[in-house]
Amino acid sequence: MRFSEYQRLSRETAVYPQLGDNLVYPALGLCGEAGETAEKIKKAIRDDGGVLTDERREALAAELGDVLWYVAQLATEAGLELEMIAATNLDKLASRQRRSMLHGSGDRR
Ligand SMILES: [Mg+2]
Repeated sequence: MRFSEYQRLSRETAVYPQLGDNLVYPALGLCGEAGETAEKIKKAIRDDGGVLTDERREALAAELGDVLWYVAQLATEAGLELEMIAATNLDKLASRQRRSMLHGSGDRR
């Protein structure tokens, strides 16, 4: 599945106040789902010695899907295309890799 197809299809399932003019709702949802994702990892560390069981891996995949859904809705609300976001991100990382700048910090490396 292409990102563009995911973005279009996921939008058909979007139901929240002021749909189409609401950056806040998907931004908050993204933070919430990122937290749920972190919880899955935390519990693997706490309960399973850091081992990702099949059950927890499945739960992690579901949370990552939730993260992806909110990323798609936030991108749509902002008038951005996931396909472009993904390509631009890879271009940025490839550039940093070529320049041996993958380590370190700063958004504009
Ligand atoms: Mg979730």
